[in-house]
Formats: sequence, C-alpha cells, structure tokens
Amino acid sequence: MEKNFVWNEDKLNKLKKLWDEGLPITKIGNEIGVSRNAIAGKAHRMGLPKRNSPISKSGDPRKNQQYNNSDTSKVLPLKIMLRDVEWSRNRCCWPIGDPKLPGFSFCGTSIIPGRPYCEEHSNLAYTNTRES
Ligand SMILES: [Zn+2]
Repeated sequence: MEKNFVWNEDKLNKLKKLWDEGLPITKIGNEIGVSRNAIAGKAHRMGLPKRNSPISKSGDPRKNQQYNNSDTSKVLPLKIMLRDVEWSRNRCCWPIGDPKLPGFSFCGTSIIPGRPYCEEHSNLAYTNTRES
C-alpha cells in the first residue's frame, strides 16, 4: 500500500508538525501511515533539522567535551576524573577519603605549577616527607 502513498499537503504538514514536536521517526511513520525510511527520506529532502536521539543527548559523557574548556571547577563523577588525564594534570589529585568507599574523590583544587598538588596538599606532602 505504500506504493500508492502520495505526500499531500495535509501529510506534509503533519510530518513537519510531528517532527517539530520531536516525535520518534517510527512514531511519525505510524501516524501518517508510511515506513520509518519514508519519513526519514522525506524529512531529509524537505531539509528538516537533523534529529538528535534523546538517549545519546543525556548519556555518554565522552561526547561532552565542553567541560575541558569551560567550568572545570564543578564536581565531576570519579570515573570521569580518573579517565580525564588533562583535567587531573591541572587539578590537585590528592585523594580524599578511602578509595574503596563510594564517597572517595580527589581534592580538585588548582595545582601549584610544577607540583602535583594544590598549595595545601603540597605543604602536607612535603611535611610528610620530612617527617618520615
Ligand atoms: Zn589539594
């Protein structure tokens, strides 16, 4: 039946409207009565804006590169802190708490240039070295 399908103005308007509303392509297809591919192809030819899957938007932190040049002072989840070498190079990596416990994190304050820790923890580290 798809062979006889004709895009009339009603259907085009409906496609545009549902597309703007952010309905999944499959769902739009169901509403209008064509396949997902037909919707995607038509939308492409109409020059409708590319769809971002809402799943990938909120999901993978590896896609969020912005934090490298923006607000590095915000608290990042530990696994990101461990993975992001650039970040930890500029931030105090003094461990806070017990690595085996969930509350464990790093200090994260800006380091003294040339040292791995912030001022406070550099002093601590130096004191410890002298004492031991
Ligand atoms: Zn520190």
